[in-house]
Amino acid sequence: MPSIDDASVAVALGANQPSAAGSPRETLVAVRPLLEDLLKSWSAQELVFRWSSLHDTAPVGGPPDQPWYCNAVMLVEGLQAPPSVAAALELLDALQGLEQQFGRNRSQEQRWGPRSLDLDLLFWGELRLDHPRLQLPHPRLHLRRFVLGPLLEVMQGLAPT
Ligand code: ADP
Ligand code: MG
Repeated sequence: MPSIDDASVAVALGANQPSAAGSPRETLVAVRPLLEDLLKSWSAQELVFRWSSLHDTAPVGGPPDQPWYCNAVMLVEGLQAPPSVAAALELLDALQGLEQQFGRNRSQEQRWGPRSLDLDLLFWGELRLDHPRLQLPHPRLHLRRFVLGPLLEVMQGLAPT
């Protein structure tokens, strides 16, 4: 049985506002190949991408009455290099660049308010980080059903290391 390797990267995707790509669901479908290309550009090795299905979820926290979210998780295996702080920050920058590309404007939004695309780094292997811009593993990973559900889906069938 394949097992999750110790350089695996997991990214949580969420959206509840339309983008130029369309509905939140269409946004998550459109960003998928771009995320894969981004990770591939970091690796000379063949990568394995595992994608959850798209989940429609009720909003948690933030302003009342915001629309439902579409959520998914991507797990990437096969990255060779042991993760470093610099690499993790570079990946966060690239994820935020993709958020902007899909119309996200952080300066105009409330905390946990509606957004056209949210890309969170859940973990990168065993890397633990408490940087002002990046905490790893993601500090609210274990509290969010909308992350745990899709994450469980991608990890099913993988043996623990
Ligand atoms: P949330 O994802 O909790 O809804 P935001 O997307 O508005 O909140 O992100 C707020 C800040 O969280 C970002 O500017 C980023 O620097 C920081 N952050 C800390 N740890 C992480 C992580 N693991 N993944 C993504 N962003 C993170
Ligand atoms: Mg985020």
